[in-house]
Amino acid sequence: MQAVNKETIKVYAPATGELIMEYEETPAAAASAMMENARTAFSEWRDLSVRERVSYIKNLRLAVVEQIDEIADLIAKDVGKVRTDALVADIMPSLDAMLHVEKHAEKTLRSQKVKTPFLLMGKKSSVEYMPLGTVLVISPWNYPFLLSLSPMLSALAAGNTVILKPSEVTPAVGKLIETLFAKANFPPNVVQVAHGGKELGASLTNAKPDYIFFTGSVATGKIIQQTAAKNLIPTTLELGGKDPMIVLKDANLKRAAQGAAWGAFTNSGQVCMSVERLIIEDEILEPFIEELLPIVNNLKQGSGPDDDIGSMTSRMQIDIVKKQVEEALEKGARLLTGEHPSDWDPESMYIKPIVLIDVEEDMAIMQDETFGPVLPIIKANGEDEAIRIANGTRYGLNASVWTENKEQARRISSKLQSGAVLINDVVITVANNHLPFGGVKESGVGRYHGENGIRMFCHEKAVMEDLG
Ligand code: ADP
Repeated sequence: MQAVNKETIKVYAPATGELIMEYEETPAAAASAMMENARTAFSEWRDLSVRERVSYIKNLRLAVVEQIDEIADLIAKDVGKVRTDALVADIMPSLDAMLHVEKHAEKTLRSQKVKTPFLLMGKKSSVEYMPLGTVLVISPWNYPFLLSLSPMLSALAAGNTVILKPSEVTPAVGKLIETLFAKANFPPNVVQVAHGGKELGASLTNAKPDYIFFTGSVATGKIIQQTAAKNLIPTTLELGGKDPMIVLKDANLKRAAQGAAWGAFTNSGQVCMSVERLIIEDEILEPFIEELLPIVNNLKQGSGPDDDIGSMTSRMQIDIVKKQVEEALEKGARLLTGEHPSDWDPESMYIKPIVLIDVEEDMAIMQDETFGPVLPIIKANGEDEAIRIANGTRYGLNASVWTENKEQARRISSKLQSGAVLINDVVITVANNHLPFGGVKESGVGRYHGENGIRMFCHEKAVMEDLG
């Protein structure tokens, strides 16, 4: 009999061109069978005690720790990021999320007694937490480990089964996650990983999961919410950002410059919470730039151990960044540092960090998510104008305010339309399991982490009992 040759996809490291692996896609038609498997597995998984479920998450954590070096190397290669970024921003927060679930799931999922009002005297009230069923997690490529695992862990601990569809842009990490769950010995079909792109994602979305947790672009988020609405499926949408960093005249300029450089250029700006706009009071623009430029000009790009930032992850993303920078320069913006797009090597996956000045609010670079190593700087005349500019986009994920005046910082913070505000810091770390994370406006719908991070994957069930 002749062997059937299934088509395999080759995966290359964006930074070096090295072949990382080959894999076969999951056919889109497999979605309904996967959903059926997940539902069958759910009937037993939900009946395990929280402690038993969490013991599998501990197995997973130990499997990650055992292989941490190889995992860091693979993430770095697949995304094009430096190894330190893979370790510190992708793996460590994932381990932290595992520990968080291990530590808190049991208590948080215990039924809660509620004080019965006088009118209902003689009855006992409580709230119980019932798992939703099967959670579909669709994840992106920039932090492919953390942004897949983080929602999965809470959903699993709460008693749900999970189907993960990782991004086709970083499929090696998707495969790695599948292997790690197999190592952790989860019961069959409690976790299934579907490998493929848009079509597969759409097919899974249509297969009626009980919840969809999506992280990715606004455009895809809208498509997913529309499909979900047809079947009344609840969703969490973690979408893009155009995060403003407001620097006021009494800020510590050295710290602010360090924050801006890190916030704008880490992972080559391919971070949903990266600093995408810097809004600065007129009178400190010059001294701030003097602090900023030497830091930016000293950033080392590459894939070696001493490099600060890696490559872009995909050619598609380079094209988006290029278009926005070109448009800004054509409309009168000036390059303070970095290369003009006409000088970019079309073969290279690197974009030199760019700082732009003389930008206007209506330019795409100030309105649309760039997701690249570009920092546009705009002047503001005082606090009110800074707030107006900061709130002047369709996004609202993170924002930061830099000033030594704490009262002013809190006042501004309260007026910012944003899921999170940092005072004298940037990029809220997702390792902050104690704080809710999510966006306002087109940056997203819903929150995870925080007090409700595990319970959000449950139905709240009200139980009232007559004590007779
Ligand atoms: P990005 O452009 O930043 O990769 P996307 O929103 O396109 O963001 O992709 C994020 C995730 O959503 C990926 O896993 C991708 O395969 C998936 N995806 C893209 N289009 C759809 C769709 N129509 N339905 C479901 N999932 C999709």
